[in-house]
Amino acid sequence: MISGTHHECIYFERTGFPEDGSRNVFHHFLSLPPNSHFCYLLIMETEVLVIGSGVAGLMTALKAARFANVTIVTKKEADDTSTAKAQGGIASVLDDADRFEYHIGDTLNAGDGLCHEDVVEVIVTEGPRAIRELIDLGAHFTLGKNGDLDLGREGGHSHRRIVHSQDMTGREIQRVLLEAVRRSEKIDLLEHHTALNLVTSGSMSGQLSGPMSEDRCLGCYVHDTRSGDIIPLLARAIVLATGGAGKAYLYTSNPDVASGAGIALAYRVGADIANMEFIQFHPTCLYHPEAKSFLISEAVRGEGAVLRTVDGLAFMEKYHPMKDLAPRDIVARAIDSELKKRGDDYALLDITHKPAREIIERFPNIYRQCLEYGFDMTKEPLPIVPAAHYLCGGVLTDLEGKSSVPRLYACGETACTGLHGANRLASNSLLESLVMADRIASSIEKRWDDLVSPSRDRIPPWDPGDSVDSDENVVITHNWDEIRRTMWNYVGIVRTDRRLQRALDRIEMLKKEVEAYYWDFKVTRELIELRNLVYVSLLIIRCAMARKESRGLHYTLDYPRKNEAYRKDTVINRRQYMKKQ
Ligand SMILES: Cc1cc2nc3c(=O)[nH]c(=O)nc-3n(C[C@H](O)[C@H](O)[C@H](O)COP(=O)(O)OP(=O)(O)OC[C@H]3O[C@@H](n4cnc5c(N)ncnc54)[C@H](O)[C@@H]3O)c2cc1C
Repeated sequence: MISGTHHECIYFERTGFPEDGSRNVFHHFLSLPPNSHFCYLLIMETEVLVIGSGVAGLMTALKAARFANVTIVTKKEADDTSTAKAQGGIASVLDDADRFEYHIGDTLNAGDGLCHEDVVEVIVTEGPRAIRELIDLGAHFTLGKNGDLDLGREGGHSHRRIVHSQDMTGREIQRVLLEAVRRSEKIDLLEHHTALNLVTSGSMSGQLSGPMSEDRCLGCYVHDTRSGDIIPLLARAIVLATGGAGKAYLYTSNPDVASGAGIALAYRVGADIANMEFIQFHPTCLYHPEAKSFLISEAVRGEGAVLRTVDGLAFMEKYHPMKDLAPRDIVARAIDSELKKRGDDYALLDITHKPAREIIERFPNIYRQCLEYGFDMTKEPLPIVPAAHYLCGGVLTDLEGKSSVPRLYACGETACTGLHGANRLASNSLLESLVMADRIASSIEKRWDDLVSPSRDRIPPWDPGDSVDSDENVVITHNWDEIRRTMWNYVGIVRTDRRLQRALDRIEMLKKEVEAYYWDFKVTRELIELRNLVYVSLLIIRCAMARKESRGLHYTLDYPRKNEAYRKDTVINRRQYMKKQ
């Protein structure tokens, strides 16, 4: 049974017309006995549809619930998110010695000329209020000796301004928001429901939506993992909050859910997508088949750990005068360069020269986790690889979170607001989600009277065509693996025109295969993810090919310097791409 009442389920008899077309039936047809009279769920309707249950989705839902009924759909369990994995904290100006101008300046420096200054100003200055709201909701942040918030400092920040909950800040935010959502009578949370394709008025008439048409977003086809059904879920406003796309890469710190869905969905209906070439790589992720995404904090290098090749040679002095304490991008690039040159699978992070007691006291969590994976970091160097960590680009939005497609919003890592520019300042992403969630809800509220409910009778049910159950799931695994290796090898930390072209050719080929598979076989969550990954990978490649310079997180050997002519966002959309072909 679906708990809650904020999506209206409209049932039709299996054999023909709807009885009255619009009865409120507040439970899922699967919960009815198999021989039930009403057995075919055709359409669901809500007021605000939020896709994703990380910080961006949950906060937007809570804010929108002030004036509307909200439904959140999320792919797996509600707390399976990047948000829950965030360690460091949330950046905000809360210390007397700090100022908004300093935080703005630090953000602009990191962004390397591409931040939108108006956006930076708004997000930074609205930060303290967002933190207070979390505290009011019950978030417990670490306090200092004087009882005030303990503010940490991270790379790139000129002042102490990182609000944190020990080294598990994301888990605390996820907990407090999820509890508030579950308490709200105006929010339904549907777990194990995967957004598949957006419904637009244009897609119904066979046209593309986007700024050049009068088209608008009306909802989303949603796949229920448990039953396999695909149901159109209509809404007056739709908010994409599906997180990042780390799963496009072989190594990533992101959870499995990070497959770029929101960006792929938005692109397919013609929305503008921006700056996909800017992928932040974390230099040190444990190299271990089971520890897929376990980060070894930069603080380990801060305490004296040295990076070495597998045969024990320290290499950072070749790359930067600060050696192992060089900025994150340079360290990641140096490791990548050594791995590619030598053909090694991983490098080593060595802190064994420090007394064991000191290591265990300083890094109890990392020590314990590594031990679980079979490594005693006090006695042996840890195998590490850099890993895709954060996507600076995404669905291009304005300061109200609006995309270029009417009624479609984007929030969090899925969006590109202009805050991060070419490189994200540490701990600015949770802040961005919190501030933008509030602005999106206000924007929807302001437009509420214009956002009329979509007309149900024009929405076609999902047409499965002649598709059959696939008995070849191995194809999905193989293609997924090929995409992630191709992206890692050719569209990773160091790029060249040739590598990008090679990646483009391969992923285009995979796209044809995956699309054929998609239409021939019954849709599964894995197939939806694979298809989205193909789209997102192509967007990353095309944006990277368009930027003929090195700036921020985009580094290419063919154009190793910055070029003023490219001091602008890379904006891409389906219509423009189709015109070029
Ligand atoms: C290890 C790690 C540490 C980090 N540390 C920090 C930090 O200290 N400070 C900081 O500011 N940032 C940090 N970040 C980045 C930050 O955590 C993320 O950018 C932020 O949490 C993203 O929030 P979100 O709501 O946009 O996405 P997420 O939290 O990833 O949530 C996305 C949601 O969308 C759902 N979803 C995805 N696809 C679909 C679909 N097709 N249909 C339905 N639902 C879907 C997912 O299941 C999930 O519920 C860190 C990230 C990682 C991975």
